[in-house]
Amino acid sequence: MEFLWLLLPVAAFSGWWVADRSAGRRSRPGAKGSLSADYFKGINYLLNEQPDKAIDVFIKVLEVDQNTAETHLALGNLYRRRGEVDRAIRIHQNLLARVGAGDTQRFEALLELAQDHLSAGLLDRAEGLFRELVEGGHYKVQALRQLVDIYEQEKDWDKAISASRRLTAETGLQLAPIIAHYRCEKAEQAKRADALDQAMSEIQKALRADPDCIRALLLEGDIYVMEADFARAATVFKQLVKKDPDYLPEVVERLRVCHRATGISAALIPYFSALLEQHGGITVTLNLVELIQHESGIEEAIRFITEHLQKRPTVRGFDRLLDLEKELEDRPAPSYLGIFKELTTQLIEERAIYRCDHCGYSAKSLHWKCPGCKNWNTIKPIQGVQDE
Ligand SMILES: [Zn+2]
Repeated sequence: MEFLWLLLPVAAFSGWWVADRSAGRRSRPGAKGSLSADYFKGINYLLNEQPDKAIDVFIKVLEVDQNTAETHLALGNLYRRRGEVDRAIRIHQNLLARVGAGDTQRFEALLELAQDHLSAGLLDRAEGLFRELVEGGHYKVQALRQLVDIYEQEKDWDKAISASRRLTAETGLQLAPIIAHYRCEKAEQAKRADALDQAMSEIQKALRADPDCIRALLLEGDIYVMEADFARAATVFKQLVKKDPDYLPEVVERLRVCHRATGISAALIPYFSALLEQHGGITVTLNLVELIQHESGIEEAIRFITEHLQKRPTVRGFDRLLDLEKELEDRPAPSYLGIFKELTTQLIEERAIYRCDHCGYSAKSLHWKCPGCKNWNTIKPIQGVQDE
């Protein structure tokens, strides 16, 4: 804090000094005297711990010209970075009021003021200022990036789509995979409102923007399930696995629902076996165990999972084996099974299931945009002893 209090009078002093020197050269009398009075008034406010009054005095003292405008901007930014957004806003607003309409500093001050409002959570005001910059053709890329961020926060997906398109036009950045997510957000809204046709139309637009959009495929399959079109849903889910096997755990249960509904669960055994062979994964294994138990009995299921655990031990696999052992009717379960079961249950409850490839953020549910690093498409199911 003290550092900033010192910076203010120093900045004011250096501004005055430069002004005074040039005034001296041009024989402009009087500048020094009026500055000194205000300057010491400001110092007094500081000494009396009245920082807001001191700021007002010092920004008045700091004449706005090519040299001191930079000081205003730097001071404002310092305040914003320290979280003192109100003060940053006052400084930037003061600067804006004092620069000419065509000055380059005006647009810099606008950009800073917009960022102040964004930091203060005043999204509407920030949006207005960023739009003014874009329309005026100043700091266009920075302003468009911030607008996209604001529209995401406001969940205004149509505006997020059009701002992203403009950003692509300006920078050549490939934003289609993110635009596909905005379409999926719209599809999810429609799905929640039971407007399935509208949801499907957004999903098709998402897939046109990004044919590899896993989220769009999941949604498409889910909507076919809601419409009881299980065959089409299963086709979509299988297509998804081909595109990105990392998301296999998301699809396995859904495929079982489709096959159960059409009474052909057994047909999944060869399909899941082939997936297990190719990609591994405990979710597929556990689903196979259930199918095998249903088709061939508990002994066969135990044999299958034991064999799997020998090759690749996982907590969830061991937990299922304990369940199966307990279910065996012809022999009483040993007492230590209960202790193991408690342990595995706790491990499974505490584990994170998804992790961000980019920042390592872990979560129990699937986020399409990482809450840690704010990237889209970076969170995937975790592979490991405790997980897949
Ligand atoms: Zn992340």
